[in-house]
Amino acid sequence: MIDIENSPTQRVIFQDKEIYIKRDDLLDSEFSGNKARKFHYFLKNDFPKIKRVISYGSNQSNAMYSLSVLCKLKGWEFEYYIDHLPSSLKSNPIGNLKYALENGMRVKFFDECLCEELKDKNILSKTIQKGDTLFIPEGGRCETSKYGISLLADEIISFKKKNSLKELYIFLPSGTGTTALYLQQSLIEKYDNARVFTNSCVGAKEYLKKQFFALEKDEKFHPFILDTKKHHFGKLDCKMYKFWMQLQKKLDIEFDLLYDPYGFWYMMEFLQKNSISKPIMYIHQGGTKGNISMIQRYKRRC
Ligand SMILES: *Cc1c(COP(=O)(O)O)cnc(C)c1O
Repeated sequence: MIDIENSPTQRVIFQDKEIYIKRDDLLDSEFSGNKARKFHYFLKNDFPKIKRVISYGSNQSNAMYSLSVLCKLKGWEFEYYIDHLPSSLKSNPIGNLKYALENGMRVKFFDECLCEELKDKNILSKTIQKGDTLFIPEGGRCETSKYGISLLADEIISFKKKNSLKELYIFLPSGTGTTALYLQQSLIEKYDNARVFTNSCVGAKEYLKKQFFALEKDEKFHPFILDTKKHHFGKLDCKMYKFWMQLQKKLDIEFDLLYDPYGFWYMMEFLQKNSISKPIMYIHQGGTKGNISMIQRYKRRC
């Protein structure tokens, strides 16, 4: 049985700043990172009626891979809907796609989808159970994710206590913003003063703010959004590739390439610009299986 509670916290120095890195990438070799946190609810609870999971998103998504692991463990079928599949990937799957297919995932295209639930995929923001099927929104953007993220909050609170930290600034990069939002909300609900800071890796600040509102109307629970340039998800940026290699060399930690270089970069910029001297934590949210395909793309470009 997979035990995904309690990831280690590692202390590092980077550009003269002391940073605690919460290693959620080490939760489990199969089920790791923030997708393990988000899908913990499904792992821990019984769903006697369920035979199948349906989800959707990009063809190299970390959530897709993690769901394939979950479904394999649970003995569920897994159907995953995508917009398109480049012919090179079809004939030679790599990275998350390869491993998810090996776990038995079936890839389908949106135009083959007969189910109403996916017709309005952009507004699906909760898990729907219908007959023997669970529909899980893209990237685990739904309230069931809070269960596992609340356990992450517990671990952070114990870490603070153990190290007598009166305050803590926590940084993590966002896609849908689900992890950052539920982390900040859980901390507040547990009467802890740790503050969550995040940046959008998908679009401008306004996009992320909208995502927060879709999950939680009360702004007092929203994380602080860092000022960044508008970013197109998955677009290559040689400066960030270089920074990612520098992180790896300096810290001896492999980070993910889609989110982490941006998250770490904007965190350092924020700390320096505002001369922050509070204790700092950065959350490593896993996703390194997705690096295989990103490195291939970067090597061609940079
Ligand atoms: C999914 C993912 C994110 C983004 O998480 P959200 O909850 O969607 O904001 C960040 N980093 C990694 C490695 C991920 O896999």
